[in-house]
Amino acid sequence: MAEQKADTAAEFGSLVAAVTGGASGIGLATATELARRGAEVVVLDLKTDGLPEGMHGEVCDVTDRGSVEAALASVGERFGRLDILVNNAGIGAQGTVADNDDAEWHRVLDVNVVGIARVTSAALPLLRASSFAAIVNTCSIAATAGLPQRALYSASKGAVLGLTRAMAADHVREGIRVNCVNPGTVDTPWVGRLLDSARDPAAERAALAARQPTGRLVSAEQVATAIAYLASPLSGATTGTDLAVDGGMQGLRLRPAEPGDNR
Ligand code: NAD
Repeated sequence: MAEQKADTAAEFGSLVAAVTGGASGIGLATATELARRGAEVVVLDLKTDGLPEGMHGEVCDVTDRGSVEAALASVGERFGRLDILVNNAGIGAQGTVADNDDAEWHRVLDVNVVGIARVTSAALPLLRASSFAAIVNTCSIAATAGLPQRALYSASKGAVLGLTRAMAADHVREGIRVNCVNPGTVDTPWVGRLLDSARDPAAERAALAARQPTGRLVSAEQVATAIAYLASPLSGATTGTDLAVDGGMQGLRLRPAEPGDNR
């Protein structure tokens, strides 16, 4: 594997990045951050209207191999290269194993897990030609902590964690790094929709914030910063890792707050 070196003054300058699910939430924040740091960014999403100026969109359904291959072919034609792939498109599911039927299991795994395999396999020829190739998958704390009412979603993200490590091993000698981020509860349109459907949205938001030791939801921008770190040419020694961005939820065990505690 060739050593990755970088010009710190233009971290992502001259690099091309593709972000699946880049039209909303964590994906949009990531696309915006990578562009801010100098990358040419392509958003791959079901709909790409309303993207920030200068950001290119390709309509792409990660569950449809033909759509994925056409989108990656367009990236190759338009930019002639691809250096960074952020596999971020994902959907949620609620309930125990008794609550989702077979069709729902297949639908969620198809987007969250098989989608990563489809997009990555179509992107590999371009990534192999890059000297700064990096893939970042959006995983979840649901891969590392048991959360109630999230059986299917957690199974999908557990698979993403295993897939991240396997992909890192498969492609390390081709000079392609593969890592993932494990966000806690992030304030995105998705969580907004979840809160809207709760009986008491304000109480639900407070409970989700309190579950994280920082006492706050994570912001999409904070996840984007972590993704940019893992994607950066400056992180050439980091592969096969998962980075928690969860307000301390996975790693910390606090005692209940006492009156007078500083938080
Ligand atoms: P979001 O709903 O705001 O954005 C998801 C984007 O993915 C949307 O633009 C949607 O159109 C796109 N998408 C969905 N299905 C697709 C498909 N078949 N093909 C292409 N694009 C598709 O959600 P978000 O909260 O930003 O979530 C992004 C990722 O972060 C997901 O993988 C999710 O599992 C993960 N995540 C979110 C949270 C959270 O609390 N929000 C926590 C941990 C992990």
